Amino acid sequence: MNKIKMTTPLVEMDGDEMTRVLWKMIKEELLLPYIDLKTEYYDLGLENRNATDDSVTVESAKATLKHKVAVKCATITPNGARMKEYNLKEMWKSPNGTIRAILDGTVFRSPILVKGIVPYVKNWTKPITIARHAYGDVYKNAEIKISGPGRAELVFTAKDGTQTRELIHEFNGTGILQGIHNTEDSIRSFAKSCFAYAIDTKQDLWFSTKDTISKKYDHTFKDIFQEIYENEYQAKFEALGITYFYTLIDDAVARVIRSEGGFIWACKNYDGDVMSDMVATAYGDLSMMTSVLVSPEGAYEYEAAHGTVQRHYYKHLKGEETSTNSIATIFAWTGALRKRGELDGNGELEAFAEKLEKACIKTVEDGKMTKSLSLISTCEHPVILNSLEFIRAIRETLEGLLESA
Ligand code: NAP
Ligand code: MG
Repeated sequence: MNKIKMTTPLVEMDGDEMTRVLWKMIKEELLLPYIDLKTEYYDLGLENRNATDDSVTVESAKATLKHKVAVKCATITPNGARMKEYNLKEMWKSPNGTIRAILDGTVFRSPILVKGIVPYVKNWTKPITIARHAYGDVYKNAEIKISGPGRAELVFTAKDGTQTRELIHEFNGTGILQGIHNTEDSIRSFAKSCFAYAIDTKQDLWFSTKDTISKKYDHTFKDIFQEIYENEYQAKFEALGITYFYTLIDDAVARVIRSEGGFIWACKNYDGDVMSDMVATAYGDLSMMTSVLVSPEGAYEYEAAHGTVQRHYYKHLKGEETSTNSIATIFAWTGALRKRGELDGNGELEAFAEKLEKACIKTVEDGKMTKSLSLISTCEHPVILNSLEFIRAIRETLEGLLESA
């Protein structure tokens, strides 16, 4: 069989622990036999981040801006325990945070649906993609504990010294105070990424805030989205037959629960934090969620939503068998390969990505799965496979699909 050729490289960001083990298996079993894989490789494993003073993370993000498509393995975000475990020079920042800051992007998370894993919300027959604004609000707040009576004000001092003041509250006793902010640039980037991704995936876009209560703060989000929509995207949306829909957050929650899915729900930072966990749980399993970071200029970084599956890795190191689900990591690869194919006009690569996704889904629907999937599947007699056996079962299904084509 002739291997599929690639013209432009993908940015490949390797990672840590169990997902690094799966990464190698996925390449060897599911990609290299079929594709003349062209990647620009960056080792984001914690050891190499430490050895390069984390410059490798920055370089990989810059390469993503250049080549437009990246695929990332899960990586450890260091904490105190990891400092000791890896003898780190510094507590390096989260790679995802570093990459997101350089790409100025928005993260879109979607579930992978398979028959036999039934969402808790029974009418959700299509995926709901959550887009979370990842800057500001309560995540970059300033807080004060008020110790007694007094006057709290918001004060803005402009460069020329002029001040704008707004009374927050006259305290009669003790209390609490919080200041939050966002920037117009960040909201604009968020809006553009959302509209671009809706067009990219041909799905409706919903956006919700609490603008009736927050008449300046939240209303600014609503106004910026509306302005960018009308000026830059409305014609494209209409041509594709998709819609942009704004509603209040509480109305959105009610509508989402009643919906059948199949749209993107853009949320402010806090709403997105909360709603993405609710949506992921309702669809079944974090190991079946994909995630893509989209920059406003159209660079894409694909990954699994789960972490490095540390507990399984320690079992693996002890020589024990693991049954780790590789589907979300495989979908990170197929997402990146499909996008690469689309940008390069490489239909063969796109078709392969499609088939590999089908092979993953069919394998599970045929009853072959990992332990964690068997626990949430309605399949009566699932065959539980170990990590490598599962990937090999997917390969067998893939071979069948490729032959029948
Ligand atoms: P995790 O790696 O997502 O795993 C948490 C638990 O979820 C696992 O112990 C496992 O449960 C289950 N699980 C997750 N993915 C699975 C899969 N593919 N197959 C089967 N089971 C799966 O989260 P964590 O243990 O909190 O974090 C571990 C490391 O990952 C941390 O160092 C963290 O910094 C990093 N992390 C990275 C990213 C990223 O790079 N995007 C995201 C999140 C976390 P059982 O043990 O019960 O089987
Ligand atoms: Mg959260």
